[in-house]
Amino acid sequence: MTEGNSGVDQSKPSIARVYDCLLGGKDHYVVDRAVGETFKHDMPGSVAIAHANRQNLVRAVRELALAGIDQFIDMGSGLPTADNVHQVAQRQVPDARVVYIDSDPIVLAHGRALLEGHAHTRVLQADVRDPQAIREHPDTVELIDFDRPVAVVLSAILHHLNDDEDPRALVRYWQEQVPSGSYFFISHFRSGDNPQTAEAEAVLQSTFGRGRWRSDAEIRALFGDLEILEPGIVPSSLWRPDVASDPLHAGAAEAELTVWEQLIVG
Ligand code: SAM
Repeated sequence: MTEGNSGVDQSKPSIARVYDCLLGGKDHYVVDRAVGETFKHDMPGSVAIAHANRQNLVRAVRELALAGIDQFIDMGSGLPTADNVHQVAQRQVPDARVVYIDSDPIVLAHGRALLEGHAHTRVLQADVRDPQAIREHPDTVELIDFDRPVAVVLSAILHHLNDDEDPRALVRYWQEQVPSGSYFFISHFRSGDNPQTAEAEAVLQSTFGRGRWRSDAEIRALFGDLEILEPGIVPSSLWRPDVASDPLHAGAAEAELTVWEQLIVG
């Protein structure tokens, strides 16, 4: 990435840019690559896991659009990559509406460039921990009709909230905003009975002061009484796999077992 994006601190790594590095993108700096390399070396499989997460997100958005959902709020959307939520949704439902939320100024800059001229898609720079500000933002109010079903996408974001930031309260807030027939899609770091996840958590905590690998019980608790759809809580690659278009499926599933949880609730 070229240096000099305004509002961007290039001396500190960012979650969005490290993730971009793992996905093989170009929108990151030396400091981000250093963290990305730590993951690549100390946690083999992290690149496959990042790709598997994106592919699962694509499958879930496609399924939701095919099921008739035409409004999406994507929390912690990340830097634009190969197939973004609005592109997947609008392939099925051309006038699907998508609001992207991310706190990283780079996401805002790149997202706005990508979305120029898109009447049905917006990107907001906001903190997911302030859901009311997102709910009341003029772009959200203009694009999303909260009297009709909405998909709330929480892909690889709740694990960036520490326990004292109460991720369950965040999910509950949005549950109260959306009507029956809405869906929540969640992917989350999943802790296993192995030292790898504790080491990975230590790297993220020391780098960003956040990053939680939660147990199955902790992840399930995030959803209160929401119905969890088939196949339930599974590794990303095993969530309704589309083997024909997902070359990583076979190789990535085993690595993910201890690291990711994936579920969709409605
Ligand atoms: N959702 C995308 C996906 O699953 O491919 C990107 C996930 S990326 C690992 C996490 C994103 O969440 C980053 O872009 C980061 O900037 C953003 N993020 C982290 N904490 C946030 C917060 N409190 N509010 C808004 N965005 C946040």
